Amino acid sequence: MSPATHGSCLCGAVHYRVTGPLRPVIACHCSQCRRATGNYMAATAAMRDDLKIEGGENLGWFASSCTARRGFCRICGSNLFWEGKDLPYVSITAGSLDSPTGLTLARHIFVADKGDYYEIADGVGQSQAFEDYDPTPPGPTPPEK
Ligand SMILES: [Zn+2]
Ligand SMILES: [Zn+2]
Repeated sequence: MSPATHGSCLCGAVHYRVTGPLRPVIACHCSQCRRATGNYMAATAAMRDDLKIEGGENLGWFASSCTARRGFCRICGSNLFWEGKDLPYVSITAGSLDSPTGLTLARHIFVADKGDYYEIADGVGQSQAFEDYDPTPPGPTPPEK
């Protein structure tokens, strides 16, 4: 079961389709994701070959570290993708997907870096950094830790 899933940026200039399975959503509270998104980054992921981008001429990439880059719409500024060097998948902001996504939140990561103005109280498992979780899609539901 892997229905094509569609998403887009706020202005609609960048569209994408995912033709394979999506990973459960991970919420990343690291300082880079917090600055890039304005709060924290909730993202699913798909294997690279399963992601088809339309309007790619409006897609900009920012090298947010020496091992990762972030894709955004050059027109409206929406955060869309995160891509790690040599990783087989692309992270996709969960908020850019059309509803219903059918996805669930599976993990909070980099909780040690989270903002001091909110609490995480949803009962979903937490990692201080990035331990105990394999982010590669398609993945089984991670064990509760
Ligand atoms: Zn846009
Ligand atoms: Zn992050």
